[in-house]
Amino acid sequence: MDIDDHKLIALAREVLPFAYAPYSGYKVGAALLTAEGRVFQGVNVENISYGLTICAERSALTAAVTAGCRLFSALAIASEGEKEPLPCGACLQVLREFGNFRVIVAGKQNKFLTFTLGELLPHPFV
Ligand SMILES: [Zn+2]
Repeated sequence: MDIDDHKLIALAREVLPFAYAPYSGYKVGAALLTAEGRVFQGVNVENISYGLTICAERSALTAAVTAGCRLFSALAIASEGEKEPLPCGACLQVLREFGNFRVIVAGKQNKFLTFTLGELLPHPFV
């Protein structure tokens, strides 16, 4: 299956209902496309101890790495919010460990913003 940006955003939106966000009410879905064309989805999973919350991007990444995938070409992130859900600093650092792939973000409007990880985190910790 050929996965373009629209399809990847659709796959990120597909899992939004499964996000566990009882504290913020802010649900996020992610779809991570591997170099081989596989897609791994993730959602944010909040915790009553707020600092233990894991973002959708890192959920998708850990699922991909668990399946043996480490080469990625794009990550889509979708939310139900008005603004496009840019990755937090922690996620940027974790994602950047695996390269400089594209990041596509979309809120509830049908507007996409596209960046590279290098644009969002030009000076990662190395
Ligand atoms: Zn994050």
